[in-house]
Amino acid sequence: MSTIITCLDEQHSSDGSIKFLWSYADRTTVESIFFTFPQDGQEQPFLCISCQDGCNVGCGFCATGLQGMRRNLTADEMVAQVEASLEAVAAQGGPARVAHLAFAGMGEPLLNYQAVIETARRIRTQGLAKIVSVSTSGIAPRIPLLAKVASYAVNRLYISLHATTNALRNYLVPINCPNCWPQARSTPNARRQK
Ligand code: SF4
Repeated sequence: MSTIITCLDEQHSSDGSIKFLWSYADRTTVESIFFTFPQDGQEQPFLCISCQDGCNVGCGFCATGLQGMRRNLTADEMVAQVEASLEAVAAQGGPARVAHLAFAGMGEPLLNYQAVIETARRIRTQGLAKIVSVSTSGIAPRIPLLAKVASYAVNRLYISLHATTNALRNYLVPINCPNCWPQARSTPNARRQK
């Protein structure tokens, strides 16, 4: 296991999912989750990782958002998080690689863009995940950039709208204001990537 990351806790669910609590040298703590999910007609292994300690988007329903922003993780730290998670899973008889790696844990990946892209590139180069996805709250200016890296880094995008109207989304997701990046601007950008 990488020397830059330490496992502080590991919780097992009856459905087979495993939640890890990791610590880095400066005592930054983040979580990752391994689970299986039906995809293409069979159960596939997924790993969800964190890209920031805290988050400054500040969604009112989110425990990470309520912490505020502490710091971005580096690419080395995120790669170590993936490798350590998969080593722990493999040591318990699980797979050493996953079908899908998701940047959907703590933090907003498009606000740590360069490090997330570098992490995704390295994970796909190492063959640790076939699909690498980003889940974003809707950082619209960064969404078109993902199309340029789809062949070697992030190749799937999810936008967490959290609401069916801008009025409710304005309330739930603080970046969704007329002067920020409302749903109406995020979604067409995503469509253009297809
Ligand atoms: S963007 Fe994600 S991590 Fe950040 S506050 Fe919102 S739901 Fe939480």
